[in-house]
Amino acid sequence: MSNPKVAIVGAGLCGSLMAIYFAQRGWHVDVFEYRKDVRGVDADAGRSINMALSHRGIEALKQIDMFAAVEPYMIPMKGRAVHMQDGSISFQPYGTQKNHVIYSISRKVLNEILLTAADQYDAIEVHFEKKCLQYDAINQILVFEDQQSSKISQHQYDYVFGTDGAFSKVRKALMKKDRFNYSQDYIPQGYKELCLPCSDDGNFLLEKEALHIWPRKKFMLIALPNMDGSFTCTLFLDYDGQPGFDDLNSEDQVNTFFKREFPDAFALIGNVSEQFFANPTGSLATIRCDPWNIDNHVLLLGDAAHAIVPFFGQGMNASFEDVQLFFQQLDQVGIDQAIVGFSKLRKKDADAIALMALENFVEMRDSVSDPSYLARRKIAQKLEKENPDSFQSRYTMVSFTSIPYAEVYQRGVENQKIIDTYILQNKAL
Ligand SMILES: Cc1cc2nc3c(=O)[nH]c(=O)nc-3n(C[C@H](O)[C@H](O)[C@H](O)COP(=O)(O)OP(=O)(O)OC[C@H]3O[C@@H](n4cnc5c(N)ncnc54)[C@H](O)[C@@H]3O)c2cc1C
Repeated sequence: MSNPKVAIVGAGLCGSLMAIYFAQRGWHVDVFEYRKDVRGVDADAGRSINMALSHRGIEALKQIDMFAAVEPYMIPMKGRAVHMQDGSISFQPYGTQKNHVIYSISRKVLNEILLTAADQYDAIEVHFEKKCLQYDAINQILVFEDQQSSKISQHQYDYVFGTDGAFSKVRKALMKKDRFNYSQDYIPQGYKELCLPCSDDGNFLLEKEALHIWPRKKFMLIALPNMDGSFTCTLFLDYDGQPGFDDLNSEDQVNTFFKREFPDAFALIGNVSEQFFANPTGSLATIRCDPWNIDNHVLLLGDAAHAIVPFFGQGMNASFEDVQLFFQQLDQVGIDQAIVGFSKLRKKDADAIALMALENFVEMRDSVSDPSYLARRKIAQKLEKENPDSFQSRYTMVSFTSIPYAEVYQRGVENQKIIDTYILQNKAL
């Protein structure tokens, strides 16, 4: 096909990255985005403000020479700073090597950098405020509503990529197909973000190079650093139950809860209850579907294909890796076969990281303060240090390598047996 027409729906993290991958291969792409250009507006309340970027996301950026542009905005987080209720703080490094570090980055800044890079290519046209209403898969027609004029327009494309996030409109077209599998599972917890400001002289009020966690068994607060010296805290809490979002209805109740559970954070945030009622509560779900394509003309990537809960800090990283792997396929077998084969290649990995993300919630909110977990973690780190070629912890494999997630999951199961044997042989617990 000469000059095929390509559309990407959604200019979030995955879509804007994908546009650059296409343009660098000389393909012309139209990108349609529901929202206003993120560069001209304040951060969107209710979407995570900062995120953990790690190896897989970084590799995908490096492939298109975008890492140097992003690097100045990354804050290294070398491990977890665990805040106990009695005020003590312990530091748990993420890995065993110097480069075993994850990075805090602003979602908005990252999206802005990618969109500004996309502007450099004549081959990319980004159309903002165009809400996709529907994809007619039979005639390969996308239908958009202009958010300013409410005008409806229709466009025919040879190839359509749905990177329009967890509540994808493109996915709706796939749902009409026979034998399309779909599930959406909400967890009982929601999340709320609160800003912990910098000191009067602009300094960080908590250790800067750490991801802070206040584990409280059934719920937790976390905090990631921002470039301006502040931290973004996120409270993960049941909707119903005690404590629960539905139960925190007055300033008094919120302040009492925070003072009791997170006294240090409460003092540093300052206006907890004000922010608590001003900021939205977000829900969290795992979305699984299969297959991600219809024939050779439409494909879902990123959250549209596999939304996961955020507890492994991998949703964006996995989405970026999708893009990198898709283009590896495109280069090898051409676009038609790459689209047709992609979910067969990647779905098992998406399922594995979805599962590990759910499991990591228990680790973060509970296990990080459990002595037997800490002892096993110490053994894992010792084994990894002594045998880096044959033993890597699950966290290391997920965050600091490109080992396919499904393989990581299997190796993680094997790891537990190796640790059990070590404990038996060394009477280590
Ligand atoms: C609280 C929280 C914390 C997180 N933390 C991390 C983390 O630390 N590390 C990590 O790797 N991941 C994290 N994630 C996950 C990460 O946010 C997602 O995996 C990532 O944003 C997926 O990128 P995407 O481009 O597929 O989707 P999105 O970023 O959601 O982008 C989709 C885009 O499509 C647009 N769109 C939607 N509908 C339409 C439509 N009908 N027409 C046109 N455009 C449309 C949207 O406006 C948006 O711009 C977190 C998620 C949450 C909720």
